[in-house]
Amino acid sequence: MADESERFRALLVSRGEDKQQSVDEVELGLGDLMEGDATVRVTHTTVNYKDGLALTGKGPVIRRWPMIPGIDFAGEVVRSDHPDWRPGDHVILNGWGVGESHYGAYAGMARVSGDWLIRRPDSLSAAEAMAVGTAGYTAMLCILALERHGILPQRGPVVVTGAAGGVGSVAIALLATLGYSVVASTGRRSEEGYLRELGASEVIDREEMTGPAKPLGPERWAGGVDAVGSHTLANVLSMTKYGGAVAACGLAGGADLPATVMPFILRGVALLGIDSVMAPKPLRLEAYERLASDLDRDILAAITSTIGLADVIGAAEDILAGKVRGRLVVDLAR
Ligand code: NDP
Repeated sequence: MADESERFRALLVSRGEDKQQSVDEVELGLGDLMEGDATVRVTHTTVNYKDGLALTGKGPVIRRWPMIPGIDFAGEVVRSDHPDWRPGDHVILNGWGVGESHYGAYAGMARVSGDWLIRRPDSLSAAEAMAVGTAGYTAMLCILALERHGILPQRGPVVVTGAAGGVGSVAIALLATLGYSVVASTGRRSEEGYLRELGASEVIDREEMTGPAKPLGPERWAGGVDAVGSHTLANVLSMTKYGGAVAACGLAGGADLPATVMPFILRGVALLGIDSVMAPKPLRLEAYERLASDLDRDILAAITSTIGLADVIGAAEDILAGKVRGRLVVDLAR
């Protein structure tokens, strides 16, 4: 149950008249939170690339000031006027504008719409759910999209770009468990051993993919999970086999797409757009069901580091600099 007088820590991003933003650790009460019919004690959250953009101001993520950033959390319902939730329920939230236009996860408590919550699968702890986080849930959405397009292991290898990052690491682990042959594209050759342990059968240098793409390149893979965008996505498309498909979810290398239509019109390649923020509830439930059944927990533990709320600001800089390996969990009790 919620204690109305309870105070909790939060990270608050503010913006001055000069449009410069600052982040402060503050103490808030339940009365400071925004409207919503479900109040959740946040036990774990994470640092995704998008959180890095929000915390540093390097991308236009925050759309209301001030803002508690943090796009995803796991926790326990402490109060609910929503028919689906009761105090004590274990829940997960990803997206829906939380941490962008609605107060988010970097706080001991969050008040949100109960429609945005999903029940945490029993087989995933709150820490594991945030080790998955929005990055891992998005990796699963990419794989579901490839499967729906008929890109099954027997069709050929799948390339994963931004391989040592959060989306990339979870995508490799899942694809390898599902029997795919995985080509990992990374700028960190030092992470080759890590990527092979996750299940990559080939590791390529991202330099191969960061220059302008040919309209059509050699047919190297049946599918792709692309977290990078820009020239990298154009190269992935140009090297996708006849009838293949690429799930595009990210922009770590740029939001542009300097490609030609040749892969689409001469090879029937499909470009599958992936959005985790507004994804409908049935798709979310399917993704979490599959994550709960298909993601090896030992591998999940091996790709995860745990930090406290005070470390989040430094982690935001690191993730944008491409220095974070795998996934970061923020334990609010630290
Ligand atoms: P990470 O920072 O953990 O991973 C991104 C990886 O991309 C890096 O680790 C690095 O991998 C690679 N990379 C970074 N900078 C560049 C660059 N300039 N050129 C080429 N490669 C680069 O981020 P996440 O995994 O959390 O997110 C990945 C992307 O997916 C982000 O753009 C994020 O916004 C997006 N995303 C989108 C979602 C959606 O709903 N569509 C949901 C979640 C994430 P390496 O060192 O191996 O090369």
